Amino acid sequence: MSAYDLIVIGAGPGGYVAAIRAAQLGLNVACVEGRGSLGGTCLNVGCIPSKALLTSSGKYAELSHLAAHGIAVEGATLDLGALMARKDKIVGDLTKGIAFLFKKNGVDHIEGWASIPAPGQVQVGEDIHTAKSILIATGSEPAALPGVEIDEVDVLSSTGALALDAAPEHLVVIGAGVIGLELGQVWSRLGSKVTVVEYLDRILPGIDGEIAKLSQRALSKRGLKFQLGRALKTIEKRGNTLSLTLDRVGKDKEEQIEADKVLVAIGRRPVTRGLGLEKLGVSISARGFIEVDERFSTSVPGIFAIGDCVPGPMLAHKAEEDGVACVEMLAGELGHVDYNTVPGVVYTDPEVASVGQTEEALKEAGTDYITGKFAFMANSRARSTGETDGAVKVLASPEGKILGAHICGAHGGDLIAELVLAMTKGATVEDVARTCHAHPALGEAIKEACLDALSRAIHA
Ligand code: FAD
Repeated sequence: MSAYDLIVIGAGPGGYVAAIRAAQLGLNVACVEGRGSLGGTCLNVGCIPSKALLTSSGKYAELSHLAAHGIAVEGATLDLGALMARKDKIVGDLTKGIAFLFKKNGVDHIEGWASIPAPGQVQVGEDIHTAKSILIATGSEPAALPGVEIDEVDVLSSTGALALDAAPEHLVVIGAGVIGLELGQVWSRLGSKVTVVEYLDRILPGIDGEIAKLSQRALSKRGLKFQLGRALKTIEKRGNTLSLTLDRVGKDKEEQIEADKVLVAIGRRPVTRGLGLEKLGVSISARGFIEVDERFSTSVPGIFAIGDCVPGPMLAHKAEEDGVACVEMLAGELGHVDYNTVPGVVYTDPEVASVGQTEEALKEAGTDYITGKFAFMANSRARSTGETDGAVKVLASPEGKILGAHICGAHGGDLIAELVLAMTKGATVEDVARTCHAHPALGEAIKEACLDALSRAIHA
């Protein structure tokens, strides 16, 4: 048994970053992790392996576009085992890197599944450790679809879809959200026919509608098929084939499609089981999230929670921001997270990136706004790389204060940082439009979109 200032439960991006920051601030910290390696969902079965597969599959797909550059590639082959081994090595190296950072910062790593028998106590196996504060950072897991059993052989969650040993002939993805589209594109590039089935009549719920349409058009051009306005009813196994019954939403009509594998990617749900929260009286919302106040305190004093297991966007960088702010406040400093400026990125080709309000949200709230847009087709850097799909869209108050920004286009996930910073600092479209942008660069599309909001675009 050991006594700590802080015990963090869960070593995902929320938990491990919080533990390191707390140690930097002089707290005596331990971090408990039940999974065999550090880094949580993000490093083990989320952000990192998915981006490694997107990169490798992207390089493979690029081979068929090199003819326009005068480059002929003959006899190219794909070694899926080597591609997966590269992904596994990246994951292994990064998770080991966290163990190194724990040692460097003096964070004790406790291996095992934790529960909280009483405030101030954390039990791992037979051991009970004590702490002045406990931080729950237990993250999330794939949400289940009623009546659909995920066996990770035929019917997959994102975890299974990151580790297939062959490209399925026909992969049906249930859910046109971030994870479904990213993994759908991976397998489409690696040779599968991919059909994305979505309940809503649009893809990427929550993303600005106009930008989502640009994304759908670009993904369709790259081979993804979409079946929108359809709900999965049942999956039946017939020999080696899966037969899916889909309901046409609002049409009282059923359809059948066949698949070799099905990826269920309908969202994620918080993980709180096994911690003993009900017994402690920690408030949990109807949707299963731990309820916290602005200091990340749960309803039980001394127990805090951050990241995917509390309400808010389920994103690694949001979990990190939560973790840092929470422990800075615990250490007597000022901690703050601006949830209006948390960016979200979909790492498909083209990427989709967004921050702040969507046009739909502004309309619904009755907020006055002006819009500026610029298509990458008119950007000279995009023309020279051949990545001309998509556009930048900015939304601002009539006085020019940026309220939201949305990008569909190559490197959108990196480009959005300029607009996140602009929003964080209260910049206006005039401020961004008057900032000198290098030429030729994709970032010029941001400057032009801001100029367009002021009716002064040069290249549109
Ligand atoms: P998690 O990362 O889920 O970590 C929680 C940890 O707590 C886990 O390791 C778990 O084993 C441990 N734990 C749970 N209960 C206990 C217990 N009782 N005792 C001990 N340990 C426990 N986000 C992005 O921002 N960018 C992306 O590109 C992105 N891509 C993604 C791709 C996929 C396929 C998936 C599935 C997710 C992706 N995400 C992405 C989401 C991101 O992974 C999560 O938002 C992030 O990991 C949340 O961090 P967290 O620390 O809150 O929880």
